Amino acid sequence: QPAMQFAQRLDHVETSAIRELFKLLGKPGIISFAGGFPDSAMFDVEGLREAAQRALADEPGAALQYGATEGYNPLREQLAAFMAAKGATVAPDGLIVTTGSQQALDLIGKTLVDPGSTVLVEAPTFLATIQCFRLYGAQVIGAPIDAQGVQVERLEELVVRHRPRFVYLIPTFGNPSGATLSLQRRLRILELAVRTRTVIVEDDPYGDLYFGEAPPPSLLALSDQVPGSRDWLVHCGSLSKVLSPGLRLGWMIAPAALLAKATMCKQFSDAHTSTFAQATAAQYLRSGRMPAALQRARQVYAERARAMGESLRQKLGEALTFTQPGGGLFVWARLSGADGALADAGELARRAIEHGVAFVPGAPFFATEPDRASLRLSFATVGVEQIREGVARLKAALMQGTPS
Ligand code: PMP
Repeated sequence: QPAMQFAQRLDHVETSAIRELFKLLGKPGIISFAGGFPDSAMFDVEGLREAAQRALADEPGAALQYGATEGYNPLREQLAAFMAAKGATVAPDGLIVTTGSQQALDLIGKTLVDPGSTVLVEAPTFLATIQCFRLYGAQVIGAPIDAQGVQVERLEELVVRHRPRFVYLIPTFGNPSGATLSLQRRLRILELAVRTRTVIVEDDPYGDLYFGEAPPPSLLALSDQVPGSRDWLVHCGSLSKVLSPGLRLGWMIAPAALLAKATMCKQFSDAHTSTFAQATAAQYLRSGRMPAALQRARQVYAERARAMGESLRQKLGEALTFTQPGGGLFVWARLSGADGALADAGELARRAIEHGVAFVPGAPFFATEPDRASLRLSFATVGVEQIREGVARLKAALMQGTPS
């Protein structure tokens, strides 16, 4: 029997090392900092139950029937209002609803990437987007970041050298970096977009999850201040981290020509996003429960982030460096190798599982030139006591076999 022949586009994409690691997480008693999702205890189950019931009572035909590819209009209106409250003006028909923001990213790849096109991303960035853009044949190149987000001079050099189809950024509480692009850099990036006629994709699933002060406005909100920038800007939003990832609801705001192409591609992909999920979310947003639910999530995640930062500083000291995140779900850290301790996060991840704690090594998040000393720790789904215990186990794994 000849082997099944797969499309050549799959040649450059592998299932991630992270998925392999997740297989080991079933071990009983393991404390996992490996996840990339919100805490299910944070879901507003009561609010969603009421919203789903109202959707079925008030609009059963629409909620259960096929719907428009662009999205369910009452939800588009609610999402436009949600964005307006954050300073970004968009008409309901200036956005399309997508099946998670992941689908928006896929549609961006589908509509903008040819085999051999260059796409610039942050180094590090969200792994699934690297893989998604590669699937369309993109050469994905990483631009360096620091605690203030992507380094604009370096990004500009790469833009000029590679003429990318687009630059993909997670400007606020990045995954995995936790970094937030400063206001000044945001404005410079919008100017860069106009000057070099480069599409900027802003992926913003975490911006609402801030712990203290709100982050700078999104690139989308700031685009009013930079004439012409809106013509080069794509914004992806998601209800996954603020309401529920299981609803699979995201949205995409883009210049009309791109939005039309993306809508056409979506038609061939899933026809439309679940109308029941959309009607439920529209009811939920209309009910006015979102601000309180967000407030609660911010408080809980802030407390966990603080506990993780304190434990890491106390227990691991010099061995690990990190920036305390101001929001989101992640602490991005680096093994310093101090005092002869291990500096390979992949090896530490294997040892850590044996010690009953899991995290994700950072190397796969780099499109080019992986940093093997880096790692991502999520505090989102672990209570404060367990965070302290998990960090103690991490220390035991790190110190195992090192000369004292
Ligand atoms: N973008 C980023 C940066 C993410 O971290 C995630 C999920 N972890 C997504 C997009 C996809 O989210 P969803 O499809 O659930 O909206």
